[in-house]
Amino acid sequence: MITKFKTIDSENIDLKIIEEAADILKKGGLVAFPTETVYGLGANGLDGEACRKIYEAKGRPSDNPLILHIGEREQLNIIAEEIPESAQKIMDAFWPGPITIIFKKKSIVPDSVTGKFNTVAVRFPSNKIARSLINAAGVPVAAPSANISGKPSPTRASHVLFDMDGKIDMIIDGGAAHFGLESTIIDVSTGVPTILRPGAITKEMLEEVVGNVDVDPAISGMGNTDAAPKAPGMKYTHYSPNAKVILVKGSKDNVIESINNFVCEKQKAGFKVGVMTTDENAMFYTADAVLSLGKYDDQEEIGSNLFKILRKFDFLGIDIVYSEVFQEQGEGAAIMNRLKKAAGNTFIEVI
Ligand code: AMP
Ligand code: MG
Repeated sequence: MITKFKTIDSENIDLKIIEEAADILKKGGLVAFPTETVYGLGANGLDGEACRKIYEAKGRPSDNPLILHIGEREQLNIIAEEIPESAQKIMDAFWPGPITIIFKKKSIVPDSVTGKFNTVAVRFPSNKIARSLINAAGVPVAAPSANISGKPSPTRASHVLFDMDGKIDMIIDGGAAHFGLESTIIDVSTGVPTILRPGAITKEMLEEVVGNVDVDPAISGMGNTDAAPKAPGMKYTHYSPNAKVILVKGSKDNVIESINNFVCEKQKAGFKVGVMTTDENAMFYTADAVLSLGKYDDQEEIGSNLFKILRKFDFLGIDIVYSEVFQEQGEGAAIMNRLKKAAGNTFIEVI
């Protein structure tokens, strides 16, 4: 299959390209498109056969359900059986935007979207290109991240091209994704609203709107792999570049000294070694590649660069990446959640 690659300016959307892409979706094909979180791999969310193609292109396990994206809020009524009060408050505060809500589903939603669940995950993105495409298609669009399953999510169209060239019908390039981390997922179908995946809409922000919010125990702790996550996708190894990622935790001086020692050791053993750090510490390291995620206190910048930098280590042919750990409060919860998964939930502590 030849994958068409089209560029759209989000401030001046070319409706001819949108129509062409929407046509592909209506006919059961796959189109990757930008959202404010990461690039999505879209299919008609009411067409079970089209959704199965998403699993095939990504190599995604079939028990990992998809998020349906809507172009207008009213579209929610087609797919959600009931809208609890807490969901209403969350939608009023954060939609359109980077948060996915789990609802009881209507029977129109195919099993290939939701797996064995009687619930459906729904997001109303703010990205103008995404919404214009969904509205032109006239159906909710199923769209997981447009990467090969297990790899870092794409935050640029070039990342999508690298993973999906020849496997999907079209890629729409709409520039860099704003947040660079996948949406927060919140389950409101059982008592206290529960975060199933942390994202740019933080626990603190949600608590201001709906009061007490829980975090699924399977995602809250380092190395806590016993609890089965309610978002099935969270049980899989994720966000991993080809390089092995190793987190190093401890006081600043110890981390820098230890990482430099580890780098030396591994280089002597013949490996190409990288270091992932922040602007403040980058100058203290010597390695085959020292890449900064941004300023330590700028979580938005760190979040938006994380997947791009993980992919860059692969591009540079790095075998092992030593990474510092970052702040865990606020958006840091999402950053560290992705980083821990990239590192297989293990770390080295240097006291
Ligand atoms: P992504 O691959 O980034 O689109 O992520 C989709 C995430 O949403 C996965 O972790 C899924 O497990 C989760 N998800 C989708 N539908 C549901 C659902 N009905 N209940 C719980 N989690 C869901
Ligand atoms: Mg994904």
